Amino acid sequence: MIKRQRIFITGRVQGVGFRPAVYRIARGLGLSGVVYNDTKGVTIELQGRAEKIAEFLVRLQSDSDKPPLAEIKSCNTVDIPAVEGESEFIIRTSDSQGTPLSQVTADIATCRDCLAEMADKEDFRYGYPFINCTNCGPRYSIVKTIPYDRPNTTMSVFNLCDRCAAQYTEVTDRRFHAQPVACGECGPKIRLTDNKGKTIETQTEKVIAETAHLLSAGKIVAIKGIGGFHLAVDALNNKAVERLRERKKRDHKPFAMMADSIEKIKKYAIVSESAEQLLKSPQSPIVLLPKKPNSSIAPSVAEGVDTYGFMLCYAPLHYLLFERLNNYGTDVLVMTSGNISDEPLICKNESALERLAYVADAFLMHDREIYRQVDDSIVHFVDKQPVLLRRARGYVPSPIFTEENCRQEIFAAGADLKNTFCFAKQNQFICSEHIGDLEDAEVYHHYINSIEHLRKLFEVEPQVVAYDLHPGYLSTQYALSLAGSKVISIQHHWAHIASVLAEHGLGGPVIGLAADGTGYGTDGAIWGCECLIASLEKFERFGHLAYYSLAGADKASKEAIRPALSLLQKAYGSKFNLQKFEWLLKRIEPDINRLRIISEQLEKGVNCVETSSLGRVFDAVAAMLGLGSYNHFDAQLPMALEAVAATDIEDRYELELLYPRRETYQFDLGKAIKQIVNDVQNQVNAGIISAKFHNTISEVLLGFAVICRSETDLNTVALSGGVFCNRYLINHLIKQLKQNDFSVLFNRDVPSNDGGISVGQAAIAAKLVKCIS
Ligand SMILES: [Zn+2]
Ligand SMILES: [Zn+2]
Repeated sequence: MIKRQRIFITGRVQGVGFRPAVYRIARGLGLSGVVYNDTKGVTIELQGRAEKIAEFLVRLQSDSDKPPLAEIKSCNTVDIPAVEGESEFIIRTSDSQGTPLSQVTADIATCRDCLAEMADKEDFRYGYPFINCTNCGPRYSIVKTIPYDRPNTTMSVFNLCDRCAAQYTEVTDRRFHAQPVACGECGPKIRLTDNKGKTIETQTEKVIAETAHLLSAGKIVAIKGIGGFHLAVDALNNKAVERLRERKKRDHKPFAMMADSIEKIKKYAIVSESAEQLLKSPQSPIVLLPKKPNSSIAPSVAEGVDTYGFMLCYAPLHYLLFERLNNYGTDVLVMTSGNISDEPLICKNESALERLAYVADAFLMHDREIYRQVDDSIVHFVDKQPVLLRRARGYVPSPIFTEENCRQEIFAAGADLKNTFCFAKQNQFICSEHIGDLEDAEVYHHYINSIEHLRKLFEVEPQVVAYDLHPGYLSTQYALSLAGSKVISIQHHWAHIASVLAEHGLGGPVIGLAADGTGYGTDGAIWGCECLIASLEKFERFGHLAYYSLAGADKASKEAIRPALSLLQKAYGSKFNLQKFEWLLKRIEPDINRLRIISEQLEKGVNCVETSSLGRVFDAVAAMLGLGSYNHFDAQLPMALEAVAATDIEDRYELELLYPRRETYQFDLGKAIKQIVNDVQNQVNAGIISAKFHNTISEVLLGFAVICRSETDLNTVALSGGVFCNRYLINHLIKQLKQNDFSVLFNRDVPSNDGGISVGQAAIAAKLVKCIS
């Protein structure tokens, strides 16, 4: 009995080799019909025996037949009349290219098939550093505009040779319509230059051999990859790593590393099974892994933290280079972003030579232009699940899907630190890659250009603009400068909690616990440790950490002496005097005059702001323990405090719940601070103090949730905010919340730090627009 069915498939099914896969399975089963892209996904018409059609559907969703990058969200079938005399199965390419949202996919690490070909002496792409196929290679970083076709990518300057063209046009081939397809004859080439741009070598094998030689000799080489330049150096050579630090003007921030196998990473770090899967995934992010004790990695790679950031090779060029490095016994490279301090990642050859001339000794470059710079993504584990800390290469521009269509198109400006921005269109939130800290002029410039590029790429015409409540943010000023749009300002921590709701497809209300450094509050204070009753429509501030004063607004997030002095003065009240605490304060700020000035400033309230910041409390406690006194990069002191925390301590310090003032509950840390001071004085081990402090903060947040539940009957808790990048704190809190029968939600797909704010803003704006209209 011959039957015909029409099958509608949605999900990530365009631009991932889905139609050729359908073609291969259908042909193999002797089915006739057609497959084509439409605006929602892919439509298939199949004709043949019913059991063959059923087998087709099973195989299409099986791991062995489904293209590796495809993700089927829904699959619906209807019976339709059979077509008489049909015998062929065809791919119809003349139809819609699909929606702009579904065409452009993320950059994907080199697949196994391509690696095998690259190692095969008989293959015409043997040793070719730009081998790729439908299942791997650059995408987002090379697209200039849509439709996603070769002429609209930076590959347009390379004309396909006959062999590549044959594969590109053959529907059954793995390279059918793989836009970056190329070979040694027709595609991009590599070259090695000195730091003045003078060519050292152009022949592929020699370029790689010489680069490996330089690296093994401790030289710094700028290497152009997929999303930009890396600065590479031998990770076991401490002198070389220190030289890189000095030249890059990056004093303290940990460097990421790259290796070509899991086994090599396991020599230096603890790799769980799920971490291994993540390292090997097509997204190929940097994964934060616990350090192995006494590893031979140069100490200056990652000081003051208990993890190493590792990634596997993800471009063919990386593999070729590591193959050569192995001859020299060099097995791990530092691969840090090619930029100076916090400027945007460099992706163009000319600017690399100009800006990195004093950093790199040599440049390994190529002539495939990177149109959009995309940093490496960073992932760590929370409650045993992978959680993004920086969302960029491999993940962007994959959208976050929503249940309902947005009524109007939305632009969400994000926050000023770790900025991302977000568009809402149809049923998708499209979040940009990590942009950076907007206070840097170059980054701000990059922000404006990126908004324009993505707006055009995804054909968004925003009628609504959402931005942070902070009047001083550059992102706020930019949002307000966009004429003719409806503007909505959104409180920072509400946006944090909303980002969790958006990811989980929920509307709330929930108990929102924000553990954060800095966010502008509706009362003009700087909020940070908050309990909100929040939905996408509204929020109410239920509780917060009792306010303390911060002197010297901008400096307060860097200099730990400012929160430390404030918390001590508040805890001891009239019993506080500088002489009495000099023993403690001098280790944070040796200049007694400065201590006096800041102390007076706090007493008189000059240039002070009230705050419930949790990040600054971590700064203060880290400094009291002698772990440093200055945040050279964001969260340096809190990370140092987390790194020393003992793991088997259940104890905590005392807390005080203040009666509702302004109708909000407040926990005061005064008693805890006094007990910490006593412990420091009694020379209690820093690891124990740190653990007890973490447990105390966890108790504060749990306490809010318990009181809030008793007054509202809400039982779902959403966790977000930059302080939840602290694994000890979030894991401890999740455990406690679960023991108390709460259901717990936290960020996974977008960072819990300010990199997730834009998604929260977009989700709230989408809801508010719906409520208004
Ligand atoms: Zn491939
Ligand atoms: Zn070719």
